[in-house]
Order: sequence, then structure tokens, then C-alpha cells
Amino acid sequence: MESFTVESKTKNQNIHDELKRLDDSRLRERHTRLSAAYKEFASQNLALDLSRGKPGAEQLDLSSEMMDCLSRNDYKSRDGIDCRNYGGVDGIPEAKELFAGILEARPNEIMIGGNSSLAMMHDLVARGMLRGLPGSELPWQKLPAVKFICPSPGYDRHYSICDYFGIEMITVDYHEDGPDMSHVENLVASDSSIKGIWCVPKYSNPTGITYSDEVVERLAAMPAKASDFRIFWDNAYAVHHLSETPDRLMNILEACRRSGNPDRAFVFSSTSKITFAGGGVAMMASSETNINWLKKQTIIQTIGPDKLNQLRHVRFFKDMAGIEAHMKRHAAIVKPKFDLVLDILDSHLGGKGIASWSRPRGGYFISLNTQPGFARRVVGMAAAAGVTLTEAGATFPHGKDPADRNIRIAATYPPLSELKPAMIVLALCIELTAIEHELSARGYKHPVEA
Ligand code: PLP
Repeated sequence: MESFTVESKTKNQNIHDELKRLDDSRLRERHTRLSAAYKEFASQNLALDLSRGKPGAEQLDLSSEMMDCLSRNDYKSRDGIDCRNYGGVDGIPEAKELFAGILEARPNEIMIGGNSSLAMMHDLVARGMLRGLPGSELPWQKLPAVKFICPSPGYDRHYSICDYFGIEMITVDYHEDGPDMSHVENLVASDSSIKGIWCVPKYSNPTGITYSDEVVERLAAMPAKASDFRIFWDNAYAVHHLSETPDRLMNILEACRRSGNPDRAFVFSSTSKITFAGGGVAMMASSETNINWLKKQTIIQTIGPDKLNQLRHVRFFKDMAGIEAHMKRHAAIVKPKFDLVLDILDSHLGGKGIASWSRPRGGYFISLNTQPGFARRVVGMAAAAGVTLTEAGATFPHGKDPADRNIRIAATYPPLSELKPAMIVLALCIELTAIEHELSARGYKHPVEA
């Protein structure tokens, strides 16, 4: 199967063909026209930002009432714990019950954290390095090498965690149904220093894909040379649907149990993009063995998480149906932004064979591929016109996209009024870069003045 590129593949098979067919004078005329449009934007002192995968203010407002949920002077959890006090290191029972719907795990397989699932991932890797995970023969730091598989393009902060701990990253391609599993299986079966794989299995950051059942089953069942090999299953966008027919993701914990590897997966999520990105609740799930081990570790680190926030969330949502209804309100705000981005890409670049892009059915990002070798230049040109994009390369380990073509578009934060000019500038930069490349291939030394 082909590596993940685009949905509009048929249109984009003959990269660059449309430009190649134009004769020199028509190509130069188009360049002059688009350069003028670009310069016009550049003269406007724009300060537009498509780089941040953050909820917009309107989305945050959807949860404002949650702040009043504890105003009745009743701070007790169902089992009588005063949530204002210390304790409850793994979370209050009703929070575990509520979030069991997101994690698809039993309450005794769940650990509630602070406000950041990324912090839980970081700490788990840190524990692996310092002490080892259940099943480790040695703490990872005592080994000559520790490696993680990084399906890419992926989430840059997973790579930063590896970088920080000196963990070697092995890049594996994404297909449209998940990582290249033959590659993953070969690596994991043959190298005992491979201790983990990062997965964003639903509405993936940035490609938007959801792993197929086959991929989930293969990940759960594949033989691993390392007895302490783990899947870091970052299901950050579990309930972040943008369509009426949500993607379905097979339950990794059950798949691991069925395959005789019950302790293999750690599942992470949070309400950062459900309620407040700075004041949500983080959570994780794994086998009871792993969670019991983790509780013992965590008790050394903290006397308990913020249970008041857990209680607030429970009272605000009540149940999974409450979360699902709330996510529909998010979708009503986010979908028009995604639609605008896609409309501009389609109308400005569609059929030209100079870029391809994903059409995600959920999540937070649209992934765009320029022609190989152009992404860095495009991001730089956009920045010069006042449009900030995620740095080119950020979606690959060490910030190095081997093909220099992937750009992550984060559409949720800016209002529609800012999204539109920002996307037009991006489309202009992509087309200008392609034209300039073609003109210089035809011997024009300074295409801008051609
Ligand atoms: N995981 C993924 C895939 C993300 O895209 C993000 C944020 O963008 C996070 C985790 C961060 O989650 P949290 O806010 O719970 O730390």
C-alpha cells in the first residue's frame, strides 16, 4: 500500500503537470499576477496564526458553566471523599466511570491524572528510563540503546519526549489505515532495544486518519523481542468527530488481552479539547497490573490530583451522552473552519497537481503535502507575509521531514475572518513556489523579476 498522502489522489497524480504544460509567457504572466497578490498581502502587516492546535475562544465558552458546578457547597464525591482534601491518587470513582466511556476501559483499569495527558506520557517514559516498566529486566537508562517507533508525520511533542530522554527515534511511514505494519512488525520482532511505539490512533495528529481493525490487531498481537515493549496509545481525539458518522476505533486493550499481551498498551486521553485546554482532566487506562504498578509509583510523586476538577467535570457532563452532546457543539464551531480551509485549498490549488491534503472526519488538523523539497520555503514565505504555520519538519522526528513536504494546518484557533486570508496566503505561497521552481528549471535565474 502507498504511504499516506492525500484523499484527492487522482487529481494529484501528475504532480506539476499543469504548470509544465503552460508555455513560458503564460507561466511568467501567472507568476507576475500571483506575486502581486502575495505582495499586496505582505504589505498589510498581517499577524495570522495557523500553527496552534488550540481550541478557539468560542469553544472554551461552551464549558464556562462548568465553573459553577461546585457552587452548592457540596464537595463530596459519591463515596464520601472530600474533594478539597488530599487523597484519591487514581481519581474519584464517578470520574473513572464517566471517563471509562472515552477510554473504553473498566474503572479498575483507569488512572485519572492532572490536567495534561502529555505529562502522563512524559512521566511514564521517565519511569521506564529511571526504574523500568513492569516486565523490564533493567531500567532503560542502563541499556546501551533505547528506541521508539515514531510513525510519521506525527505529533511533535512525542518526539520531544524521546529527544529529551535520549531515546532513538525510528521513523515509520503512515498508510491511510495506520502505520506501515510490516515495517513495524519486523522492527519490533528483531530488536530488543525497541521499547515503544507512539500512536495517535483516531483522527491522528496531523494526518486525520483512524487506524483500521487490522492494524490494531496486528499491533496487539505482533511478537516483540523486548519483554517490556509498550504501545503508547494517545487517543487525544477519541470523541472529536466532525461528521455524522464517526470513525470507529477497535479497542486496543481488548485486542491486547485477546492476543495474550494484556499489559502491552497504555491508553491516554484528556478533556483538554473537550472543556479547557489549560484546565481539563487527563486520564489513562491499561491492564489492572499496569495500573496497580502505576498507582504505587504515583503515590511517591503526589498525594493526589485535583479532585475538584474531576467533580466539576462529572457534574457538568453527568454521563457519556453529555460528553457526546457537548462534542456536537464543538463540531458546529470547528467544522465550518475545516470546511473553509478545504474550500480554499480546493478552489486555489485543486487539480493543479502541486499539493495534496487530507479531509479529516475529526480531530484538530489538516495535513498538507507540497511537492517534495518545498515545505520549508512555503512556510518561510508565508511567515514573511505575516502568516505563522507550524514549522516545516515539525511533524517528523528531530524536526526533519526527509521529503520536506509536510505542513500541518491548525484551523481551530483563529476566527473564520482570520482563517480566510491566512489560507489564501498559504495557497499563494504554494503556487508561487511551484511556479518559481518551474521557471528556474527553464533557465530563468530570478523568477520574481522574470
Ligand atoms: N496528544 C495529542 C495527539 C495532541 O495533539 C495533543 C495536543 O495537541 C496532546 C496530546 C496534548 O494533550 P494534553 O493537553 O492532555 O496534555
